[in-house]
Amino acid sequence: MYQSMDFKGYDLSNESEEIVPIGSLNHLSTKYESLDYEVIENELYREEEQKKGYRYVVQKDFSRWMTFFWIGVTTAFIGIIIFISIEIGTTFKFNMIKKYFDGCTEADCVYKPYLVALLLNLIPSLVGSCLIVYIEPMAKGSGIPAVKCFLNGIKVPRLIRLKTLVVKVIGVTCVALGGMWGGKEGPMIHAGSIVAAGVSQGKSITFNKDLGALNFFREDHEKRDFVSGGAAAGIAAAFGAPVGGLLFSLEEGASFWNQALTWRTFFGSMVSMFTLHSVLSAYHGHPGDLTYKGLLNFGEFDDLSYHILDIPVFVLMGIVGGLTGALFCHLNLKLFIFRKRYVNKDWKKILEVLIVCATTVTISFLLILFTSDCKKLGLDPTDHPIQFGCNDGEFNAMASLWFQLLEGTVRSLFHDTPDVFNTTTVVYFCICAYFITLWTYGVHFSGGVLIPGLCTGAAWGRLVGRAVFHFFPNTNIGIYSLIGAASQLGGITRMTISLTIILVEATGSITFGLPLMICLMTAKWVGDFFSESIYDTQIELSGMPLLAWDPPPLSSNIYANNLMTHPVITFKTKETVGNIVKILKTYSHNGFPVIEYVQNYELDEGKTKCYLRGLILRSQLIVLLENKVFDGPLTNYWDSVTMETFREDYPRYSSIDDIELLQNDLKLTIDLSRFMNPSPYIVQHTMSLPRVFKLFRAMGLRHIVVVNDSNEVAGIVTRKDLARYKVIRHMGKICVTELQFSSK
Ligand code: ATP
Repeated sequence: MYQSMDFKGYDLSNESEEIVPIGSLNHLSTKYESLDYEVIENELYREEEQKKGYRYVVQKDFSRWMTFFWIGVTTAFIGIIIFISIEIGTTFKFNMIKKYFDGCTEADCVYKPYLVALLLNLIPSLVGSCLIVYIEPMAKGSGIPAVKCFLNGIKVPRLIRLKTLVVKVIGVTCVALGGMWGGKEGPMIHAGSIVAAGVSQGKSITFNKDLGALNFFREDHEKRDFVSGGAAAGIAAAFGAPVGGLLFSLEEGASFWNQALTWRTFFGSMVSMFTLHSVLSAYHGHPGDLTYKGLLNFGEFDDLSYHILDIPVFVLMGIVGGLTGALFCHLNLKLFIFRKRYVNKDWKKILEVLIVCATTVTISFLLILFTSDCKKLGLDPTDHPIQFGCNDGEFNAMASLWFQLLEGTVRSLFHDTPDVFNTTTVVYFCICAYFITLWTYGVHFSGGVLIPGLCTGAAWGRLVGRAVFHFFPNTNIGIYSLIGAASQLGGITRMTISLTIILVEATGSITFGLPLMICLMTAKWVGDFFSESIYDTQIELSGMPLLAWDPPPLSSNIYANNLMTHPVITFKTKETVGNIVKILKTYSHNGFPVIEYVQNYELDEGKTKCYLRGLILRSQLIVLLENKVFDGPLTNYWDSVTMETFREDYPRYSSIDDIELLQNDLKLTIDLSRFMNPSPYIVQHTMSLPRVFKLFRAMGLRHIVVVNDSNEVAGIVTRKDLARYKVIRHMGKICVTELQFSSK
């Protein structure tokens, strides 16, 4: 039996009486409900299937492909809106800053461009953070951890709403315009997921409009598949990497996968990428050209060569990426706890964003002021070269790193010749980039860590490249910069397969596949030795009941009867309305076994046994009560109920407190046998934890009923009961702890 390890979380208050300390990693929140990925094959379902026949199957399949097509197109258009808004806004901003810089080549007037830059960055940052704080907090950050949880089977409130999408799109544009260290690539994944969830349902709850189409997709498992496709389409648009998108959904998100879904996801990603390419090509004056790159263009490497002797250096870089990534996750966790405690008011959250923004601008100006790295114009890696502190015909290399979009900076670090930046310029830039990314990730804005992570890594990778170049002048510095970027991001996010392919696709060269894979695997192994990935840390802090890929190790001596809750709240096959209402009001559970009491004279001398007949969900009961599907002496409404009745209310069902019933209704009964799931998954009480876990994981279950040796209902296990067993890896030691439930 497991012992809870000595793991105290992060208790911030000595006087605190709370069981779960703020920012603790050892709690599981009960406020998150689960999604129902299981198909309820009840009488209504079977009737519908028989009545509609094969035509229905073909129609559904065709609609599925069409829906993936529209998901791809819509996601691409969202990317286009973001791209064009950022391009127009930043061109204006950088031109303004350049104008004021051009009028000032010495230190005594640098305050003028500084104040202009400060103002032009603070205004969009303020707008972006106000939107997050006051309008939709769910649009904060990249959204990747929450999408991952949704695909794992957790109902994350307001994650896939239209309002969240609108705030996300405006927010991410503001982040880029505000010069903050956040990428738009993570948010594109979230945006694609929202689009997928919206397009596939044929109705908008926000506008109270139901198109009456695609209602056969109004089920959690269908929505999950579309959301996987939407996340992939988001990556495809962001990086111009459709295969990377597909693999991202597979690696980071999807808990359930099949061959047909792979095809459709790939199709949606391709549509997304090519829609984006063709529209942006037309926008840039090359209509019909389908080769324009995605939102993020790393540019192509002229020199694709590397030697076998480079490989050990790449492994070392992977180790550095893993170490710095683990440190990043650890420090970010500390920052999170600090924020929970001190940055807990709306105005403080906005103030923090403004301070981060102002600090970023100030650091960039201080670096420009105190380093002198002048290079000949023509080597300039930016569209807005700044002359400050340099002679005519020269530009300031440090300024060129700061006064362009992060994507442009990554490109410069990858491709510029070794003499473009002095070593000290890159050292200062790298240190500042690391700490600014660290501080920025987690503030109230809509930005991801992907591009800032790549940028930091590209900087130290370039330094390694320079060192190697010093001894071997034929060295290709660009590949070192790319490996540094991959290692750093891999160390932070622990993405391996998908990041390898995303970077291969974004750089257009499969030649780099091997070194990228080597450094990413190394970064992941080293990082995992010390800490969880940044996404998993966030998921744990929020207390979401994420089911890991594998059951806890050495747990086969834990049995279903150790996991289950007993006694179980159940219903009889014919249940009175009054009893159903009372139970739903008293308990917050979402699934109830339906049982029948049988007296068995032959075997058990007339003892009453309680046999399982099915499982019914709270949402189903609510629909039945709302539609008054009762069997009374004079009423028998249930013939008029079909699958459509249940789909109409999906996904937001009323609360039991909102249902109005007459006193007489309470005495009537409902025959649950027609509506319940007549064949729910059941396990013997002797089944081991790993087997129960695998069943939950593979089938996407929400509840499992446990039966005893005589097949009577003995208990119930939900995904939260399993998610409580948490594997903790610390300094190479593996411990398993049982998390506490909390209502936070
Ligand atoms: P979810 O919240 O995941 O949608 P749920 O509300 O049905 O599902 P949980 O919140 O996961 O259930 O359950 C919390 C605790 O209540 C668990 O320990 C679980 O075993 C227990 N539980 C769930 N359903 C029942 C029930 N019908 N009778 C008794 N205990 C239950």
